[in-house]
Amino acid sequence: MLRPKKGKKEKIKLSKESIAKAKGIFAYLKPYRGAFAIGWIFLVLSSSAGLFFPYLLGQLLGGSDTSNSEILNNGTQDFAGQINLENINTVAILLVILLVAQSVFSYFRVVIFTRVTENALRDIRKTAFQRLIHMPMDFFNKNKVGELTSRLSADINLVQETMRTTLAELFRQLIIVVGSIVFIALISWKLVLIMLCTVPVVAVFAVIFGRFIKKLSKQAQDAAAESNTIIEENLMGISNVKAFTNEAFAIMKYAKTIKSIRDLNIKSGNWRGLFVSFIITCLFGAIVFVIWQGLHMTEGPDATLSRGDFNSFVMFTIFLGASIGSLPDLYASFQKAIGATENLMQIIEEKTETEILQGKSTPNITGQVVFKNVNFSYPQRKDVQVMKALSLSANKGETIALVGASGAGKSTIASLLLNYYTINSGEISFDNQNIETIDVKHLRSYIAIVPQEVILFGGTIEENISFGKQDASKEEIRQAAQQANALDFIESFPEGMQTEVGDRGIQLSGGQKQRIAIARALLKNPTILILDEATSALDSESEKSVQEALETLMEGRTSFVIAHRLSTIRKANTILVLENGTVVESGTHEELSDIENGVYANLSQLQMN
Ligand code: ADP
Repeated sequence: MLRPKKGKKEKIKLSKESIAKAKGIFAYLKPYRGAFAIGWIFLVLSSSAGLFFPYLLGQLLGGSDTSNSEILNNGTQDFAGQINLENINTVAILLVILLVAQSVFSYFRVVIFTRVTENALRDIRKTAFQRLIHMPMDFFNKNKVGELTSRLSADINLVQETMRTTLAELFRQLIIVVGSIVFIALISWKLVLIMLCTVPVVAVFAVIFGRFIKKLSKQAQDAAAESNTIIEENLMGISNVKAFTNEAFAIMKYAKTIKSIRDLNIKSGNWRGLFVSFIITCLFGAIVFVIWQGLHMTEGPDATLSRGDFNSFVMFTIFLGASIGSLPDLYASFQKAIGATENLMQIIEEKTETEILQGKSTPNITGQVVFKNVNFSYPQRKDVQVMKALSLSANKGETIALVGASGAGKSTIASLLLNYYTINSGEISFDNQNIETIDVKHLRSYIAIVPQEVILFGGTIEENISFGKQDASKEEIRQAAQQANALDFIESFPEGMQTEVGDRGIQLSGGQKQRIAIARALLKNPTILILDEATSALDSESEKSVQEALETLMEGRTSFVIAHRLSTIRKANTILVLENGTVVESGTHEELSDIENGVYANLSQLQMN
């Protein structure tokens, strides 16, 4: 509404786009449009009723003064043709009625708008999370999780504020501005002209300032998100920070970003200050000027204004001034909300994995896997080829050990098996079905992963195990725990399966966490298994028990093991030695050990010594 016409063509386009995006968010109000419409009716009623307040107040103040009302032609002696506004009691009663009506209207406006907003926000939050959790892996490589979450919550707060208050307030103030001008014009056209000479000037400046301040606060918002990321990263990796005694470095980095937040906000504050001064000088100067002009009109033999009307006029001028004064701030927060909405919609409109991956078929996957001449580079680092003509094949139930230096591409193979990324060329197939034709959810339902660093979610041990199969019965969970050699230690806790883990509960050892992850995988009963063996040494008791559990888990399944332990490697059907994304040697332990000066032979020689 207040958006001015802009000079540059491309800017107009941009603003149209952002408004179009903002409209996207209001689609979330659609299901509640009935209630929303009623809210607007109350808003219109309360705002319009509000307009009579300065009028009646003016009449009340001037009502006792009848001295010069007689000289006026008609004046406003009779309001709506019947009510005599010269009687202060009548005016007072009208004011009381008005206030009661307005409070009722306002009550319903606030209650209805809040209800509609909260409903819409619940849907927006749900959709945003739903979209986020379905984003392709590459999205999370490009966006830092900490930044994403703090931005999301900040944006949602802004949208909440806009839907609940800003929009209504902006509209209310606009009604007051327009209504006041109409009322003043009815009282005296001459006064309204004087008034109008100042209003557009203020409005134009407000818009220019508003846009400038918006830019500054967006920069400050970005800096704030960055500073949150620093806190999050450092606290999450606190043991590293301490071990490297990097506290001072972290503080310095943080101090740098918070300094820029401070600087940006101070800069925006300076401009805001200037803006406020401008409003005060212009607006209040104008008010004094028009009051002075108005007073002239009430005096002398050719007075054209009654005292009551003059008072109403003064009241309107004050209301109008306050409204115009609040418009830039409202406009700025409205603009801010449009920015936030754009961000939100960007996330909501970003393509999810299932929208990108078109595979629809749902074959029965038994565990036969083939990589044929696979070439791959990560989407955000296209120049670095991570897989080079890589081929491998695994029959149902076989164990494939992946061996190689760090950065050779072992984890990338695991990611490709899970279809986290799309390969550039070549083919990956499961039971002779190209991975691209298989429904990605279906595919993943056949694969389980036991990662190196097991992350347990907040909740009970039972919940953490049933993460592998949400509808598992208690008996199934117990059985999985038992097969994973986890039941004994779980039952040694007073609350057994119901023991809380993580921040609010018990801290489990590395070996215990791994066994829970194994139980989780067992419960899922996959045909394909990805194991990333822990490099950190477990105590020998734990190691033995984890090893046993892993062997149970691997039985009858095709397993890809990112192997660090000789025991696993020895038993593997095929060992693939990787170097820079290609298989340099492949065969059994015996075969590879026999290659003179072979990579594997050297490696196992090293490990044995
Ligand atoms: P390994 O598991 O054998 O240590 P990776 O498969 O993790 O090796 O890495 C292979 C190569 O791919 C490395 O050069 C690594 O820098 C790169 N890489 C790994 N993950 C990503 C990623 N998410 N984005 C870009 N490059 C990556």
